Amino acid sequence: MNDQHQWRYDRLSWPQMKAAIARKPQPVVAIPFGAVEDHGPHLPLSTDNDILEAILKETAQRSQGELLILPTIPFGLDEHHMDFPGTISIQMETSLAYVAQTAISVARHGFTHILIVNGHGSNHPITDLAARKCVLETGMICANTTINAAIDPTLAAEVIEKYRQGGPGSISHAGEFETAIMLHILPEYVQMDKAQRELGQIKLKYFNWDHPEPSVFGWQDFWSRMSVTGICGDAAAATAEFGKLAFEATVTHFLEMVLEFRTIPLRERVDHH
Ligand SMILES: [Zn+2]
Repeated sequence: MNDQHQWRYDRLSWPQMKAAIARKPQPVVAIPFGAVEDHGPHLPLSTDNDILEAILKETAQRSQGELLILPTIPFGLDEHHMDFPGTISIQMETSLAYVAQTAISVARHGFTHILIVNGHGSNHPITDLAARKCVLETGMICANTTINAAIDPTLAAEVIEKYRQGGPGSISHAGEFETAIMLHILPEYVQMDKAQRELGQIKLKYFNWDHPEPSVFGWQDFWSRMSVTGICGDAAAATAEFGKLAFEATVTHFLEMVLEFRTIPLRERVDHH
């Protein structure tokens, strides 16, 4: 296997890893952090991890060796979904320690640019703190981001605005975006006859989940208090065509973002005491 095209971090041998670390410019290392949780009656519990892995794999393959991907950390902060059968919940302190130690290990080998890539909304504050811990402990450049538009629509914003069918509130959890992406990448696991529209979350003047309207305060309730099916969005509006467009837009912008992230210089600290 040509090292330049091997995208799985853990499939390199240690001499290949040593060469990747010595390469200039160095590849960016991504740490996917997902979840196993309910995604409505029509999608599997693996949805967040499936979407995360498909987008990262495609981006890494297109990057031709500029992006190395760790195996997915599959379970996240999910206590608020435990009313739905099958969800796996990891304590927030444990999650933070685990993700941070993973990033710190990568940095200790000499990788300078590390991205913690989130695939599940409630992991966001953990990825933010884990990245900061890595920066503070190692001095390397470690950032957090998400590639799932049900959490943050930025990478697929134009496609969502132009092509979504479900209207305001349609693309949140297990809604139009996630269902459409799954129809594109793993259609055999989507039961479209069970896909429904349930917008779920309350919309107020200063609080709403519909993209791109901002929310002035953040709040996460128990999922079963706001959704009967587990869906927050319009799953019934999803199509494989929309999924393909959203997937393509996400991969294109994510690759561009990775290459831009790598240009951030590693500067010297100055002690002004
Ligand atoms: Zn999800």
